[in-house]
Amino acid sequence: MSLDNHKDAAKGSLDAMKLRLKRQTELMQYLDEAKWYKSLAENFSDVLWTTDLEFNTVYISPSIFTLTGDTPENHIKKSLSERYPPTSAEMLIQLFTEEMLEEENPNNDPSRSRIIEAEFYKTDGSTVWVSINVSFIRDKAGRAIGIKGLTRDISQRKHVEDILNHTRQSYLDILNSLSEAIYVQSLDGTFIDVNEGAARMYKCSREDLIGKTPNDLAAPGMNDLEMIAGKIKQVHETGIPSTFEFWAVRANGEHFPKEIILNRGVYFSQPVIIATARDITNTKKIQQSLIDSEQLHRKILMTVPDLVVRADLEGTIVYVNEEALASFSISSPDHVIGHNVFSFITDDDLPRAMENYQIMLQNKVGLQEYKINNPDGLVFDCEVNADVILDSQNQIAGMVYVLRDVSERKRAEKQLSLQTHLRQLLVEISSEYINLPIDKVETEIAASMNKLSDFVHADRCYICDFDDTTDMFSITYEWCGENIEKLINTLQNVPLHPDWVDAFKLGKPLYIPDVSKLPDGLAKQTLMPRKVITLIALPMIHNGRCIGFVGFDSLNSRHYYSKIEQQLLQVFTQMLVNIRLRQKNEKELIEAKEKAEDSDRLKLAFLANMSHEIRTPMNGILGFASLLKEANLTGDQRREFIELIEKSGIRMLNVLNDIISISKIEAGLMTLNKKEINVNDQVEYIHAFFKHEVTAKGMKLFSHSPLPLHQSQIYTDPEKLYAILSNLVKNSIKYSDGGTIQIGYDKQGDRLIFYVRDTGIGIPKSKQESIFERFVQVDNSTSRAYEGAGLGLSIAKAYVQMLGGSIWVESEVGKGSCFYFDVPYETSFKTGNQLFSDAETLTDEQSLSRLNVLIAEDEDISFQLIYNYISGFCSNVLRAKTGIEAVEIYSDNPELDLILMDVKMPEMDGYEATRQIRKTGSEIVIIAQTAYGLTSDVNTALLAGCNDYIAKPINKLELTAMIQKHLKKDKSL
Ligand code: ADP
Repeated sequence: MSLDNHKDAAKGSLDAMKLRLKRQTELMQYLDEAKWYKSLAENFSDVLWTTDLEFNTVYISPSIFTLTGDTPENHIKKSLSERYPPTSAEMLIQLFTEEMLEEENPNNDPSRSRIIEAEFYKTDGSTVWVSINVSFIRDKAGRAIGIKGLTRDISQRKHVEDILNHTRQSYLDILNSLSEAIYVQSLDGTFIDVNEGAARMYKCSREDLIGKTPNDLAAPGMNDLEMIAGKIKQVHETGIPSTFEFWAVRANGEHFPKEIILNRGVYFSQPVIIATARDITNTKKIQQSLIDSEQLHRKILMTVPDLVVRADLEGTIVYVNEEALASFSISSPDHVIGHNVFSFITDDDLPRAMENYQIMLQNKVGLQEYKINNPDGLVFDCEVNADVILDSQNQIAGMVYVLRDVSERKRAEKQLSLQTHLRQLLVEISSEYINLPIDKVETEIAASMNKLSDFVHADRCYICDFDDTTDMFSITYEWCGENIEKLINTLQNVPLHPDWVDAFKLGKPLYIPDVSKLPDGLAKQTLMPRKVITLIALPMIHNGRCIGFVGFDSLNSRHYYSKIEQQLLQVFTQMLVNIRLRQKNEKELIEAKEKAEDSDRLKLAFLANMSHEIRTPMNGILGFASLLKEANLTGDQRREFIELIEKSGIRMLNVLNDIISISKIEAGLMTLNKKEINVNDQVEYIHAFFKHEVTAKGMKLFSHSPLPLHQSQIYTDPEKLYAILSNLVKNSIKYSDGGTIQIGYDKQGDRLIFYVRDTGIGIPKSKQESIFERFVQVDNSTSRAYEGAGLGLSIAKAYVQMLGGSIWVESEVGKGSCFYFDVPYETSFKTGNQLFSDAETLTDEQSLSRLNVLIAEDEDISFQLIYNYISGFCSNVLRAKTGIEAVEIYSDNPELDLILMDVKMPEMDGYEATRQIRKTGSEIVIIAQTAYGLTSDVNTALLAGCNDYIAKPINKLELTAMIQKHLKKDKSL
């Protein structure tokens, strides 16, 4: 520092001292002048004081004592730091330093004062808040010479302010801690104040928001700002809070929704709008997801077939998904909403449903099944899933039920179980049928009919035989439930309804689910009076033909037969067919076996019999033939022996004839050869034929031919008729020792009933059927009294059957027998060979005399026989031994009347010989001698040109009758 500078500095400090003294003097003057103020100050409660410009107290009013407990004298001595705590002291110093600097400013009011609030020490060291009103004391020139002040105790106010500040801070803290944004808006919308929540919401500072308007913060194009301005106005005017949503933009540009509630308020005495806003981004998201989920559920409810029902705690239905109503045949939700859920449950299921409801209130109940009635009374099998609905307090608010119609499934399940049972039943029945002894069949069939009827709820089951040629049926088995009318006695041989016939012939079952619904007609007329409600009948088919049917009638209830049930019943029917066939076959087998055994037995007996029947006459023939050789026999003895030989021959011939006939019948070779004949002649012929034999036995023979001549022509096989009648007459002779024999016939309708009645030994009842079987004789013992092979009646029976009739006997042992047989009374006339001509009757041999006859026969015995038969009425008899000879002899002797032509001859047979003779144009009568009953021989002979034929062995009467028939007219015999 320079000297000048020091000088200047010394000068400066001297000047300053002078100045200070001067000011103090002036201040004292001021004080003197202000003495009257002093007395005023002495009585003032505020503390008045004066300090110099260094803050040394010059004066202080006595009220300092009240303020600090310090006397003014004591207080004056205290420095600034002893009077004020450091902060207050500094504040004062700073204040006056600032004021001093402002001194030079001419614009300032020199009397201006400043008020500060500071703390002040009390004597006890504590502080008290005071307000200090200070100003400079100025000299006349206006320069500051000291400081005057008025100190007022403001500790009370400060205390109140502290409380207020504290309270405000608390409010601010609260406001700031709120998550909601709170703004104070002027009535034009400008933000006056905002809390931290608002700053957080907008992601900026509070300051950034203050002064902004809703327009500044709105997401562009998202809000109706005019509406918002209107709401502010409305809230201000009415005081009614208003809520709305607002899309705002955060500081980072992000758009977000907020919900705002506007309230009317006052802010620092100013009418304002206080808005509370909440970021509802999440709420919106939740809302949207709720909407989505609601929509989703609605869509689901619209599409599911299940009925969803919501009910309140009382069970009253408050919601139902309308779309599903149709599947329960409910036409309107009104039929459901407002009704009680339990009112739809069927009576049977109601107790269970109520019980489950109580359980459900405590814990969940699993899936249940109930039968539900719809308002029209239709019943549905439902699967019901029920659960409780909880409110926000977790209290049960109601129930939700999901109903699924499982009727179809139930039906299917029921059907399935029915079918399974039915199958089991059929398996049971079929296993019972296997190896079933034949005598148990009937019982088992009845049992299975009972079982099946029970199963299909039928009250009647029947098995019928059906004849597909007449379309008639008869019930053969019947099972009826209690009090059900039996039909077996009425339905015998009755015609079957044509519709049924058609169905059965096609192998189709006939099913009438409800008879009352049948169209009017025969079927309905028949079934209704029998009270049949449902009927099913299944055909029994064998080899493609309907042989019967099985029927099930339901009289007490309707029964629905499913396709499978029908098929299974058809299986049962087929089982019946099989068992019945088996039964029939087994029966036939047994019969066949018995028959075979019988026939075995019979054959044995036959053999024994045969040997007897052949040996006996052979014995006679050979025995008497050898006796004839003896020389010394009388004429009578010789005749007697010859007769015995002849008798034995006839007997043997009969046996042989029977054997041949039966063999032909058995071999199926026996044929019919029908002709027009006169039945009266036939009877008369038999009568004439057997008359001698009957009379010889001391009996009488009668005949009876009631038809007049013009009605007695019939069309039949004369040989068979002859054989039958002669067989019966022979038996009558054989099995009678006296009495009478009657032969004859009667016409009954279109039948002729022949009879042969005797008064012989009779036939026991037990044998009256079997005697028609071959080899059967009433007396089969070896010691029996009557000859015969037991074949006659079986041959007769076979012939009768061939003629289209039947044979039977009425007999009483010891009284006699009457054999009957019938043949059709056929009168259609046909030409052909006849054994006897209409007008002819058997006449004496003499009427045939003068005949020229050629016997073509290679065997001598046969020739001899024929020769002896005819020689009585012939003038000339020639013989040829071959066919060639026959032709030659005839050409040499054209006067011949008759050729008896044996068909079997060496070199040329009789057929060829006949043909050759006929070739010459000759009409000579040629009678062929054929082997017994061989139709082929007969036909060939007739074709070759023979007029007739006669079977060997030749009977004299037969031959005579035949010759007579052919030659009587020509020769006018
Ligand atoms: P057979 O050769 O034994 O006579 P048939 O077949 O002609 O054989 O008759 C069978 C049986 O019927 C005879 O053995 C006899 O017992 C009985 N019979 C047949 N006709 C008569 C009758 N007219 N009177 C009594 N018994 C008879």
